[in-house]
Order: sequence, then C-alpha cells, then structure tokens
Amino acid sequence: MLNIALFGPPGAGKGTQSESLIKDYNLFYISTGDLLRKEIKEQTKLGKEAQSIIASGGLVSDEIIVQIIEKTITDNPDANGFLFDGFPRTYIQAYILEGLMIKLNTSLNCLISLEVPEEESVRRLLKRGESSGRSDDNEIVIRNRLKEYREKTLPVLKFYKDKGVCFDVDSTKEIPEVKKSIESIIQNELSKRLLNIVLFGYPGSGRGSQGKAIAKKYGLEYIATGPMLGEEIEKDTEIGKHIKALYENGQLVPDEIVVQLIEQKLENSKNVKGFIFKGFPRTLVQSYILDGMLKKHGSSLSKIIEIEVPTLELIRRLDERSKTNDCMPYDTSTAKIVKRLQEHESKTVPVIEKYNELHGVVKIDGIGTFDEVFERISFEIENGFKNLK
Ligand code: AMP
Repeated sequence: MLNIALFGPPGAGKGTQSESLIKDYNLFYISTGDLLRKEIKEQTKLGKEAQSIIASGGLVSDEIIVQIIEKTITDNPDANGFLFDGFPRTYIQAYILEGLMIKLNTSLNCLISLEVPEEESVRRLLKRGESSGRSDDNEIVIRNRLKEYREKTLPVLKFYKDKGVCFDVDSTKEIPEVKKSIESIIQNELSKRLLNIVLFGYPGSGRGSQGKAIAKKYGLEYIATGPMLGEEIEKDTEIGKHIKALYENGQLVPDEIVVQLIEQKLENSKNVKGFIFKGFPRTLVQSYILDGMLKKHGSSLSKIIEIEVPTLELIRRLDERSKTNDCMPYDTSTAKIVKRLQEHESKTVPVIEKYNELHGVVKIDGIGTFDEVFERISFEIENGFKNLK
C-alpha cells in the first residue's frame, strides 16, 4: 500500500494536487472536509453537529473525525493506498491515523507539507470563494481557519518530522511545478520498496531458468532453495550429507535448514529491487514462515506467479533433463520424478490455493519457447512494479 497525507493550510492546493495523484497512483481519496460536507448535505446527526463549527472556521471534534474516517478506511481494505487531504489536522488525529493504519497492517509512507504564506492562502481562498459556493470561503472565516491551522494543525508536522516521513514542498509555485516536486518525493519513497515474487510451478515447468533470467533483468535477488541446498551437498557439509539422503528418498528438507539459509540471503542482499523465490514456500507452514521473514525485513509479498504446464509435458521435460549435464540427484529415475510431482500436488498445490484466496495467483502459460514464457512473466513483473505505487 502507498499511503500519503497532503498537509498544508487551507488554500495550499491540497485538493488540486490530489486530483492527479489519485489517478496516477491509483489511490483512494479521503478528504475529511468533503466527507463532512456530505454529512451536512444529507443532514445526518453527525452533519448537524459539524455544521456550525465548519461555518465558523473551527475544527470539528476528533470524535466526529474518527467516526467518518474509520468507516471509509475499513470499508476499503483492498485499496491500493489512501490519499488523505485535511487529515490529520490535530496531534491527536496523527495518533488516530497511526491506529487506523495498524489495523490495516500498513503505515503512512509520507506526509507532504504544501507550504504557502498566510496572505497567499487568504488571497487564494477569497478567489475560490467567488465560485466555490462554500460558506467558509469568506474573509472572517478564512482568518479563523488559518488561526486554527496555526494553533492546532501545525504541531502535526512535528509528529511526522520525528518519524522522518515529513517532506516540504514550496506550494507558491505553479501547479505543474508543485506536482513535479510531490511526484519526486513519492518516487523516492517507492524506490525504497521491494518487489517480492513467488514463482510457483511443477518441477519441470521452467521456474528455475525463468526465475534466474527475471531476477537478472529486474535487479531482483533470486532465492532458490533447491540450489542453495545443492551448494551444501557440493561442499559435502554435514547438512549437505543429510540433505542428500533426503533428496534420494524424494523427501523435503526440514524447515529449520531452509529458513536459516534464506534468512542469511535476505540479510546479505543489499541494493536489490526485491526477491524472487523459487521452490519456496513449498508447504503451508513455509508460507507462514515466508510472511514472517519478509515482515521481519520490513517488507511483504507483492506478487505470486504460477507457471502452468500439462503433466505429460512435465514428465517429458524432466526425462530429457535427466539425460543431460543438468541432471539433478532427484531426476535420476522415473520413480523419483513421479514422487516429486506427487509431493508438489499434495503439499504445494494447497499453498497456491491459499495464496489464490488471499492475494490472487497470476497463472502463466508455460508452453512455448523460453522467450515467449519469459515475455509473459516480464509483463506481470512490470505490472508488479507499477502496482508497488
Ligand atoms: P477542508 O475542506 O479540508 O478545508 O475542511 C473544511 C472544514 O471542515 C474545516 O475548516 C473544519 O471545520 C472541518 N474539518 C475538515 N477536516 C477536519 C479534520 N480532520 N479535523 C477537524 N475538522 C475538520
């Protein structure tokens, strides 16, 4: 999720800038001012309570704000992110927002403060008042709104400065220029995010070769538990010997070993754009482990892809591989190949089903040349980067 708050005095241009931001970043727009005006228009109990306060330029109570905002947020848990305009407007509301974000297992990524001198705000609001039809766009009320801003809203900046997520933009500039500055703040924020992919598919579906190529093209770290374990076998470590015996029986390696190796990889990978997991998670338990490890790393899963190949084609490919130098210890007999396919069906297919219910799994047709399949996966990865917004 990408959650942004546009901050600034009345007339700073929050509403204007919001219009393009919600489109460009596919965000759900929450303007507490608009929500309150709607309540007033519908003459709800809440609207009646807020009406006179708004008319005088004061701030409505935090209790009212919680009620209108909580409903909007919890009604839209699947939003790509939220853009807040006019909220948080008090130090208390900053805490309220923290709580609401925790409820959605997310956080506010940045608070962008649009800076304009008071007299410029007054000038703009008086101009807007000529056509806005808003009763609070007149000079006496405007002055009071600015006083409220100075006294009650400005302290919010400290809250976010302390958190290190507050960014200033000079909003006296032309609208496109302000927009550019805001976008560069958001892009910078987005560039810190990781794109984490799980690549599923039956043995022989091409996960390995595709995963490696995708990782190279997009600057992702390729985490394939199979080769990581293979390395241990090659080094003939104690773990390696143990793994070898399990492999030859077509069994899975205990989670403790796999987790240790993956954790090391996550820790040691610097300057990557994300991770692509192949051959992990293979069981429901491992899917919980992966969520936990990513969370510990301050990240989460972005996309789950499954390469689909019909069973007979899988057997043909694996049989062919067994006759080449790429032959794996688990490729050496039909019985082992069948056992691996069965392991996938009984243990990993339920994981894919779970992910499908939770996040949706993108199915890729694995039939065709390497390049054709690569292109299909690349398309999804690029979409993934866009949706990191
Ligand atoms: P706006 O459309 O953001 O300029 O808001 C118009 C008026 O609605 C403000 O002057 C306040 O009276 C009220 N209001 C909007 N948002 C809030 C908020 N977060 N907390 C308190 N009052 C608010």
